[in-house]
This record gives sequence, structure tokens and C-alpha cells, in this order.
Amino acid sequence: MEKIGFIGLGIMGKPMAKNLLKAGYSLTVYDVVPGPVAEVVEAGAQKGTSCKDVASKSDIVITMLPNSPEVKEAVLGKDGVLDGAKEGMILIDTSSIAPLASQEVSKEAAKKGVIMLDAPVSGGEPKAIDGTLAFMVGGPEDTFNKVKGILDVMGGSVTLVGEIGSGNTTKLANQIIVALNIAAMSEAMTLATKAGVDPEKVFNAIKGGLAGSTVLNAKMPLALEGNFKPGFRIVLHIKDLQNALDTAHSVGVPVPLSSVAMEIMQALKVDGHGADDHGGILQFYEKLAKVEVRRQ
Ligand code: NAD
Repeated sequence: MEKIGFIGLGIMGKPMAKNLLKAGYSLTVYDVVPGPVAEVVEAGAQKGTSCKDVASKSDIVITMLPNSPEVKEAVLGKDGVLDGAKEGMILIDTSSIAPLASQEVSKEAAKKGVIMLDAPVSGGEPKAIDGTLAFMVGGPEDTFNKVKGILDVMGGSVTLVGEIGSGNTTKLANQIIVALNIAAMSEAMTLATKAGVDPEKVFNAIKGGLAGSTVLNAKMPLALEGNFKPGFRIVLHIKDLQNALDTAHSVGVPVPLSSVAMEIMQALKVDGHGADDHGGILQFYEKLAKVEVRRQ
């Protein structure tokens, strides 16, 4: 069995690492914050002292970090993954970052004989805990085939979508669709409620029809409770939409609806809701319309 390194033990990384331990993999872990490291070591992992140290003890290194700058720091920086990597090591970056950044990191990794896959996920903390995340992977097919079994431990679906960077391009598409679905739900339910119809009845009436969606089923029950605990924080979705806008503009694609979703989230951040779940987009509409969409 391959020796695995895991760097970044936040909301997502910690349960993913624990699932690899449960499946019997030997794991060396590292995070800049000591608390989660101690918890995963308690569950059976070895403690790494730096990204370099983790890489020097691993055949495969998995990273789960916030955004492009953190991935660059952890992989390319001083005492980073590439400082400790042996030729032939595989780096799987499961963070959601800019596709261009994946390509830049991969190019540097290749100089050391390290092959990289970008493999961001969808599904959030509950699916990270259950081991049923959806992985969207970019990189060479033979490398993908070598590590698919490992990704299957953490995921319910694992799909190769193209060359390096394609995983993160797919994730940007995912994040546009999710943001706009939540905004559409919020706009519609605010209208229904202020027009005098019980939003729970509206939800039950439409969820089996064409307007029904995974987003509606996941976010509407929480909205009815006024529960906007994260989940997936608005500031992280702002990060993804910024990457979507930058990528879209760099390839010549106007994204008008994503721009509106971005400004709604920026307004919520200014209003103190940046740490709320992205389902909290509803609060933007509630404030505009002076109405609350709640169970009656
Ligand atoms: P998080 O902030 O909870 O975890 C990130 C971890 O990385 C933290 O523990 C932090 O200390 C660590 N870290 C930062 N810089 C580091 C460095 N240089 N070296 C080592 N460790 C470092 O974030 P998260 O919610 O786990 O999200 C991680 C990624 O997954 C993000 O790109 C996010 O967009 C994506 N994602 C999150 C969700 C979700 O629901 N939370 C769902 C899908 C995808």
C-alpha cells in the first residue's frame, strides 16, 4: 500500500484524512494549525513537521488548502512539498483553486519529476465525512488510474475531465451553478412569502417539478429554520466566483449572472455575513424586501 501524506486538515481535509486511515493507509499529516493535526494523529496518523517532511515520507501527497496562494506556498515555498519530494511522487491537490495556478504548480512539480493532478471536490463537509465526495480530476490518465482507488475511498464519484487545470475549471462551473441556484431560490421564495404564500408549501409544491434541484432540497429546509451555519462559507464562495470571473475573462467569456451573484455575496460580507453558509444569500433578499422566509 502506498504511503500517503496529507496537508491541510480543515473542515474538509480532516474527515478525508480520517477516511484514508480507516481504509488502512499509512498517513503522515501536516497543517499550520496544531489542533487538527493532534486529532488526526490520535486517529492513527504520523505527525509531519512541515510540508517538506510530509513529502519526504510519502509516495503520494494530498493537499486540501483554501486557495491558490496557500497551495503555492505549501508546494513551492520554503520547506514545501517539492523540497522533500522524490522523483515519481504524485501530488493530488484537492483544493478549489484557479485552473491557471494548478498549471503553474504542475509545471514546477514536473521539474522535480513530480506528477500533479488537480482534483477539487463537491459535496461539502457531510460528504467528506461519509466518503461520498464528487471528485473532478485533471491530469494524465495513467496517473489518474494509479490513484483512483485512493480517491474512491474519499469519494462517491471520481471523474477524469481532462488535462491539468480541467478539474478546477469544472469546479468553477459547479460553483457558478450552485451560486445562481441559491440566488434563484432566494429571489423566488422571498416573492412567494411577501405575496402571502407559505414558503414551505411552495417548496413542497415545486420540488418534484422542473424547478426542483439538489440545491433546493439541501438549502430550503435550512432556510425555513433560519439556519445559516456553515457548511460552505460565503467568503469561500466569493473566492471561487473571483476565480470564475478571472478565468472567464482570461478566455473571453462574459459571465453576467456570476457578476451579480458576486456583488450579492460582497454585500453580505460587508453586512457581517461572510462566515455564514452560502445558503445565507437569502438574507440579502430578506433585507431588501423586509420579509423573512421562515416556517409558519
Ligand atoms: P479550511 O479553512 O477549513 O481548511 C484549510 C486548512 O488549510 C486549514 O486547517 C489551514 O490551517 C490549512 N492551511 C492553510 N495554509 C496552509 C499551509 N501553507 N500549510 C499547511 N496547512 C495550511 O477550508 P475547507 O472548508 O476545508 O476548504 C478547503 C478547500 O476545499 C477550499 O479550496 C474550499 O473551497 C474547498 N471546498 C470546501 C467545501 C466546504 O464545504 N467546506 C466543499 C467543497 C470544496
